[in-house]
Amino acid sequence: MAFTNSTKPVCLLILSLLIQSVLSFPRASHSDPNGTLTRDVCIIGGGSSGTYSAIRLQQLGLSVALIETQDRLGGHVNTFVDSSTNQSFDYGVISFDNISVVTDYFAHFDIPLTSAGFSGGASSTVNFEDGSSVPASNVSQTAIFAAFEAYQSQLAQYPYLTTGWQDLPSTLPDDFLLSWGDFIQKYNLSAAAFLISTLLQGIGNILVQPTLYIFKYLNAQTVQNILTNGFLTTANHNNQGLYNKALAELGSNALISSNVTKITRSDTGVEVTVSTPSGIQQIQASKLVIAIQPKLSSLSPFLDLDDQEQSLFSQFNNSYYWDSVILNSGIPDNVSLSNVNPSNPYGIPSMPGIYSISAEPVEGTNALWYSSPNNISDEEVKADILTTLGRIKTGQGYPSPNGTVEFATFNSHAPFELTVSVDAIKNGFYQQLASLQGKRNTWWTGATWQGAHDSSVIWNYTEYEVLPKITGSTSN
Ligand SMILES: Cc1cc2nc3c(=O)[nH]c(=O)nc-3n(C[C@H](O)[C@H](O)[C@H](O)COP(=O)(O)OP(=O)(O)OC[C@H]3O[C@@H](n4cnc5c(N)ncnc54)[C@H](O)[C@@H]3O)c2cc1C
Repeated sequence: MAFTNSTKPVCLLILSLLIQSVLSFPRASHSDPNGTLTRDVCIIGGGSSGTYSAIRLQQLGLSVALIETQDRLGGHVNTFVDSSTNQSFDYGVISFDNISVVTDYFAHFDIPLTSAGFSGGASSTVNFEDGSSVPASNVSQTAIFAAFEAYQSQLAQYPYLTTGWQDLPSTLPDDFLLSWGDFIQKYNLSAAAFLISTLLQGIGNILVQPTLYIFKYLNAQTVQNILTNGFLTTANHNNQGLYNKALAELGSNALISSNVTKITRSDTGVEVTVSTPSGIQQIQASKLVIAIQPKLSSLSPFLDLDDQEQSLFSQFNNSYYWDSVILNSGIPDNVSLSNVNPSNPYGIPSMPGIYSISAEPVEGTNALWYSSPNNISDEEVKADILTTLGRIKTGQGYPSPNGTVEFATFNSHAPFELTVSVDAIKNGFYQQLASLQGKRNTWWTGATWQGAHDSSVIWNYTEYEVLPKITGSTSN
């Protein structure tokens, strides 16, 4: 079930009010003479889902410790701030859904939201493989919308996809396992195929993905936003501001620039060892929330994984996704470029490669997004970006700028989309994954657990599927 403003269950509201009144004092929050912190819940990962969990659990009266490896909270959020004018723009997470978890969360921090103004990708179309111009698509807006509506009616048959994975049936509809390319053909969705590829970035070559993953990523709420221009963003185009305020509210309960070195779980609780800038910190907590990607290579260095966890997490593959702000690109001011390859189905560019290069409000800056299905180094990605820019400048006849291209910022967002084989999906991988929730005092949240790289639905999932089990307001 998708919980929106109109469908937020009254019983959950009453329950959370009750919990707030009963638990409105800090519980189990102290440090002993050895400096060990005692907390109700220790949360690993201060990105989208981990920060949301920490703030909400604290609001619900539980004591928390949030551990984040970076020097800021926010994960995939990237906000560029011009140091001389303070003008900012987002080029990581940009948009949110108009649903109660989002509006309540931003309202709590007194951060105004505004329409994100979904443009449907208005920019010049260029084949980044040779720099040549590509004629603008002659597919009408009406045909694109009709294709989205056809997709929407297919998706509507599977309401259980809007939650996490726990309601996935044991026998899956055949359509889930079709490649996305085959699904487009079967349901004649070609008019929307290119636009969808620009919306669902970061997953490598989209047409070969099993449709199940597209159903999760291009979820019902996102389709509704597209059809109604319903996306929201922060009015000052600074999504990092949300996380800065969250960090301030959490205070010393958030340990940033910190690395977990060991977690031991038992029936009575968890013991966490953290390396912080001021030394080693021990934390004892009743419960653990893991809000980082559940790749075996990420978790095994510090977590006492059992056989089932190891077996499941070892099956994940992942895609790679980067974003960057460049200076001195040589692309004329106010020109945004979208990568279209006319030789490919629907013009969707092959990955590894750049999706698009956008003109940004801070003078002299462009943002760009790059994905790969395979692991390539940051240096290789940068080199490919520079080569591609060179082709575009030559192909488009742009005059050479004074000086060279500079990477003002460059961020890897790997591991991005976690996927398993079609056989694993058929054999109940996701039902088994969902069954891990609550075992050994451990709860899991984030993109892989909800199934979508979409902060709004991840917060919804966290709010209604995960937190009630942690606070004990619903059974596991
Ligand atoms: C470029 C880009 C644009 C996007 N645009 C949008 C958008 O417009 N709207 C939208 O809704 N979604 C967008 N997304 C997707 C969305 O941001 C993600 O799906 C969401 O952030 C996933 O949340 P998460 O909590 O699972 O992971 P994350 O937000 O990535 O959080 C994980 C956190 O854990 C930290 N971490 C990792 N390992 C450790 C460790 N060992 N110890 C402690 N901390 C650790 C990481 O540093 C990170 O902060 C975008 C993503 C990218 C990359």
